[in-house]
Amino acid sequence: MSSATAATSPPAIVSAIRPAFEKGKASGDLLFFPSEVHTHKDLGIDFEIRLCPALLQKPPLPTPHFEVATGDHEKEKRTDPFQPPYNPNLYVGELKDEEEGTEYVVLLNKYSVVEEHFLLVTKEFQSQTSPLEPSDLVQAYLLLRAANKAGNHLFAFYNCGEQSGASQAHKHLQFLPTADEDGPPIERLAKAARIDKADKPFALSALPFANHIRRLALPTTRAELEPALAQAFVELLDLCISTVRHATAAAAAVDGDAGGGLSYNVVLTLGHLYVFPRRRESHRLAVSGEALSVNALGFAGYLLVKSDAELRAVTAEGPTNVLKAVACASAHDLQVGGGPEFDGIA
Ligand code: AMP
Repeated sequence: MSSATAATSPPAIVSAIRPAFEKGKASGDLLFFPSEVHTHKDLGIDFEIRLCPALLQKPPLPTPHFEVATGDHEKEKRTDPFQPPYNPNLYVGELKDEEEGTEYVVLLNKYSVVEEHFLLVTKEFQSQTSPLEPSDLVQAYLLLRAANKAGNHLFAFYNCGEQSGASQAHKHLQFLPTADEDGPPIERLAKAARIDKADKPFALSALPFANHIRRLALPTTRAELEPALAQAFVELLDLCISTVRHATAAAAAVDGDAGGGLSYNVVLTLGHLYVFPRRRESHRLAVSGEALSVNALGFAGYLLVKSDAELRAVTAEGPTNVLKAVACASAHDLQVGGGPEFDGIA
């Protein structure tokens, strides 16, 4: 891929997305699945449930395997869609974090349900089970800022670990536009939360599952941005680990289920950083009996269904109950005492 014509800065990437999306779609390499959005209010969140029957025809993606050191690197490369050579009709550009030297490629999502869905992928293989690095957070945040400056609204998300809903083992953050300048549906609830200390994690007590959030009021320089974002993420990750430990111990006591490795979803907006600890990848809907896979988008306020029956099943059960089934119970009572705050809007 020629880097002479590639976008290599966050503003250039942001302005290259639309034309690249049109080109990808016209080429037939980007498969766009039309859908219709149904809104459903649940516990103060205006969930957008996207009905996309065409997804029933989507080719099955390879089963994710999250081991970095399988020993068979050639096989890993063959099954990794994020390794070069990049498809020119999905390629948008590249970013390099000057501070840490980490290099990224920006690719359009090959199987898109929402227009302009793109991915920030590490050029060198890193595992999707590894936590976000400071450079990942900084580059993601710079993309959100560049979009905002250009009058667009984006948010980023990261599905980490086996139960997080990720389908690819090579580290990738994802970006979606939002029509609402407030951001994804969860953002309104987080914005409304009354918190005493803006520089401490807090949780939305109205939600029936663990959620760890930091409000972001970030400096503009790259040098100051990195420690601020990294500090916020580390605090949330610490809480997430503690929550998963409590949930795993509770499950083991009840049914002997010791659980797997650490899984969680991250949502990043200009205003907040969210971490949602996970226990399960999918939930079997009570009404339809189908297993609904959930990733970070569910926690941001977007769910994806493939049939009317599934849509009815999700609305009957309630989106927050679906999320509760795949999330962890809040361990807030055990974490208080210098720990996170609960907002006062339950
Ligand atoms: P996740 O399922 O959260 O791991 O996100 C991976 C994303 O990569 C999915 O949305 C897939 O549609 C997308 N994807 C899969 N294969 C490719 C590919 N060859 N090029 C670009 N995107 C892809």
